[in-house]
Amino acid sequence: MLPDALKRLVHELKKLPGVGPRGAERIALWLITDGVGVSSALSDALSAAVEEVGFCPVCGTLTRKGEQCPMYTDPSRDKTRICVVEGPLDAVAIERSGVFDGTYHVLGGVLSPLEGVTPDDIRIPDLIKRVKDDSVVEVIIATNPSAEGDVTANYIADELRSYGIGVTRLARGLPTGGLIDYADSDTIEKALENRIKL
Ligand SMILES: [Zn+2]
Repeated sequence: MLPDALKRLVHELKKLPGVGPRGAERIALWLITDGVGVSSALSDALSAAVEEVGFCPVCGTLTRKGEQCPMYTDPSRDKTRICVVEGPLDAVAIERSGVFDGTYHVLGGVLSPLEGVTPDDIRIPDLIKRVKDDSVVEVIIATNPSAEGDVTANYIADELRSYGIGVTRLARGLPTGGLIDYADSDTIEKALENRIKL
């Protein structure tokens, strides 16, 4: 029914998170009709983002490809405090709240024995190296309040116990199963202020 090029566009759009087959058709049609101006800007922005955006080799946060992130290179930020998050957007959400002046460590996932995710898969060895290299005094664990998030937080706390540093976790201001990258700044600010010792 659809011309080949449109079929191809629908096929690719269907792969986006949250886009089903009907939605993909509607978006595809809009992009080549009413949204044709947006289409070319979108295609440029997409190429540029894929080309230029990378992950900080130290923190795992989003930054320019091949560069350390501004949060880590800014001399006014406190490198002795690390906030550990699951994904790069969690760091963005916490940064938006404006109450944390330390640095971040993105795990890139959570421990999951069922899915075979081990500490080595989620940058925990890198975290331990940073704790030693940057004379870290506090690690604030901001994994999501889920079963895997809890397991990951406890594992990290156990691993860091021998280093004699403070290990805290965000307070339960967030609803259980809630996602940090969807939380508003006030909620994040309160969760950080009321962080609990592990
Ligand atoms: Zn960084």
